[in-house]
Amino acid sequence: MKTLIVALQKNGTLVSATFELIEAAKQLGGEIVSVVMAGDASTPANELASRGGGKVLAVSHAQLQYFNDEIYANVLADIIGKESPNLVLAPASFYGKALGARLAAKLNAPMASDVKQLALDGDKVVATRPQYGGSVVSNIVANNGGPFVVTVRPKVYPESKDGAGEVAAYSVDESLLQSKMSIKEVKAESGGAVNLTEADIIVSAGRGLKAAENLPMVQELADSLHAAFGASRAIVDAGWTAYANQVGQTGKTVNPKLYIAVGISGAIQHLVGMSGSGTIVAINKDKDAPIFNVSTYGIVGDAFEIVPALTNKFKAELAG
Ligand SMILES: Cc1cc2nc3c(=O)[nH]c(=O)nc-3n(C[C@H](O)[C@H](O)[C@H](O)COP(=O)(O)OP(=O)(O)OC[C@H]3O[C@@H](n4cnc5c(N)ncnc54)[C@H](O)[C@@H]3O)c2cc1C
Repeated sequence: MKTLIVALQKNGTLVSATFELIEAAKQLGGEIVSVVMAGDASTPANELASRGGGKVLAVSHAQLQYFNDEIYANVLADIIGKESPNLVLAPASFYGKALGARLAAKLNAPMASDVKQLALDGDKVVATRPQYGGSVVSNIVANNGGPFVVTVRPKVYPESKDGAGEVAAYSVDESLLQSKMSIKEVKAESGGAVNLTEADIIVSAGRGLKAAENLPMVQELADSLHAAFGASRAIVDAGWTAYANQVGQTGKTVNPKLYIAVGISGAIQHLVGMSGSGTIVAINKDKDAPIFNVSTYGIVGDAFEIVPALTNKFKAELAG
């Protein structure tokens, strides 16, 4: 068994889901190869090595500074041709899914996306993923011996903290670094300070907040818990907040330890993006709102009274 980890970085810092992929690979057993591509990949490569990334291939080039699925897939295909892994793991983030799909197509390899569990059945990898909005769970097995390209949902596996690793610089042919597009500038998305898919706590707002002017009240609650700010599609479509914050079927899938839904009804398209959260707290003035069917704790009441009270309480508790 040989697993290749696609370690994605932003501004030279590895995304935390990378360490979860290492943990998933460790649990399967066998050899681990990690690949990090960056303008200068040496720092993230050293971190990968110290966290159990196994044989860590550091690919440094100016063309690799920003995520570009076309170029990244070229480089990975080149490495996969030499390393022959059975399994290729990437995070099921927007970037990871785009890259995984392109890579699988390039390699004519089988792919499973948004996987929640990996196991071995003999020498075959079984990837378990929810489908049809979570109403069925599929076990997917690749029959070609590999490579099997899998994106793994963030926050399902714990992070690997340590383990064996050794860095080797890997140079690629310039011809692999050509792309039909060139990235001129990357601006931080206008969301909260905490990344939604990597957050342990998310506070999300919905149409029950009535107007964009009232969202800072929810952002303040999020800030008091060092949480990320999420949103229902209703308020993204209304232009109250950025699409980057949307949770759900056509937004992000999240698995935080704590998810607080404020003024969100709990439509199925929202639930599929967050129902895997550890503890769910819903604040809604309608006691029959469907969000209460999935919530661990429900507060039936007016968000305009409850949210400021919670914020004050959390601020006082966390300060003391
Ligand atoms: C193809 C498709 C894809 C979709 N993808 C997504 C997606 O990715 N994410 C997503 O979220 N939706 C998605 N939707 C939309 C989804 O169906 C719902 O329309 C949307 O989730 C509703 O958002 P909401 O809960 O904020 O608003 P509403 O359904 O209008 O709910 C507002 C809630 O606020 C409560 N409320 C009102 N006032 C207060 C108050 N003062 N205090 C407390 N509570 C109050 C109300 O009781 C109500 O339950 C999708 C729909 C389709 C068709």
